[in-house]
Amino acid sequence: MRRQPYRKPYIKNMASDGRTLLNYVLGLKCIKCGAEFPTSQMFEGCPRCKTNETISNITVVYDYDKIANILEKMLKRSKNRIWRYQELLPIQNEKHMLCLGEGNTPLWNCKHLGLKIDIENLYVKDESRNPTWSFKDRLCCTAVSKGLDFGADRVIALSTGNHGASTAAYAAVAGMKCLIFASPSTPKTMLIFMQAYGALVVQTEVLGSWSLMRKCVQDYGWYPTSSYTRPTRTTNPYGIEGYKTISYEICEQLQWEPPDKVFIPSGSGDALFGVWKGFSEFKEFGLIDKIPAIIGVETAAGGPLTNSITKNLDYLEEVKVKSTVATSISTGVASYHGLWALRKSNGTAITVTDKEILEAQKKLSMTEGLFVEPASAAAFAGVEKLVQTGELQRDETIVCVLTSTGLKDPESLSNYLSKMPIIEPEWKNFTKAIKEVYNFQV
Ligand SMILES: *Cc1c(COP(=O)(O)O)cnc(C)c1O
Ligand SMILES: [Zn+2]
Repeated sequence: MRRQPYRKPYIKNMASDGRTLLNYVLGLKCIKCGAEFPTSQMFEGCPRCKTNETISNITVVYDYDKIANILEKMLKRSKNRIWRYQELLPIQNEKHMLCLGEGNTPLWNCKHLGLKIDIENLYVKDESRNPTWSFKDRLCCTAVSKGLDFGADRVIALSTGNHGASTAAYAAVAGMKCLIFASPSTPKTMLIFMQAYGALVVQTEVLGSWSLMRKCVQDYGWYPTSSYTRPTRTTNPYGIEGYKTISYEICEQLQWEPPDKVFIPSGSGDALFGVWKGFSEFKEFGLIDKIPAIIGVETAAGGPLTNSITKNLDYLEEVKVKSTVATSISTGVASYHGLWALRKSNGTAITVTDKEILEAQKKLSMTEGLFVEPASAAAFAGVEKLVQTGELQRDETIVCVLTSTGLKDPESLSNYLSKMPIIEPEWKNFTKAIKEVYNFQV
């Protein structure tokens, strides 16, 4: 017999009677052609405007007039993690709102680092504080919870690491079977991590895994939290909604003065869209007066969004990806909705090299005490890049989304650190080693 499909969140005030049905979602809508669809399991984008070149994702539409009436009450809630904003999230049954303590992450004002690059207001949103130590928890929490609304009992994802780990954790607490196709570049720590949550993990070549996953979804009823369409990614439209909570939190943390630019490391571009949508909803409600420019930072090993921006395309081309330290953002296939968010917000996409990423990673940890994954550090490397090219003004307010922790992949940085001396414990050896390796006089 299947066990209880959810566990009660440990946070007070949460789903008090455990039975409330929310009724704020109107349905789904294509972001490109506007075609409308009922709330259903649509994971392969809009069938209406699909061409050989591109597929557009669909997005969740809410009854915003109705939400406006309870907005004040909603913003006064303090404790429910991402479910504080439950009316703006797509789960219908409160009982299905899973909670491992995701969201509500700190926004740090990085004075020292800001001073170094001459930016007065530099903030980082520290997403490494999430339950599986990456911002994918906002997406996977929302996607798997919605899966419970649909009665799903098995969940699947393709992943370079974080997406798989997060899906596995929420599947575990939801009582669902979980299957993950991990790419060959997935760091070993991440593979162990996914298996630790009980997922069936299979490591296989990236391109082939997309069709394996499609078959699992289409023929065997696995519920997807990630995308599996090419050459343009579409994805679970409910999961992306979870990323909106990053923007809601930033607005509150900055006392409703939104930043000028938000830098986000980008792979598929799901986060770009979710973050854009969050800000744009709050602007529609009149809570903020502008939407920040969203800057997608890709790896120079292969950046599909940068490719489309540079060539001024309205679709995505698949780009070859070389090996990179930023594994979490290295798939070469991005989404129409990601590109759309960049354009809508007057943002752009840029690429940064591995060297720039590792330098940024060291600066964040050595100046601000924040040890993040290389892919996360790409956000700050992007800021440095635009400072150098003169595209950032010193009085602009900047937020970098630091998407995951450095402990996921410590190996990539270890080669760039001093080779640690191992000595016999004698004073002379010690002072000599410290001098030689660290150039430091005791
Ligand atoms: C997935 C991921 C990203 C990119 O998110 P997308 O929504 O796929 O663009 C960035 N950083 C880390 C650490 C990730 O795991
Ligand atoms: Zn369409």
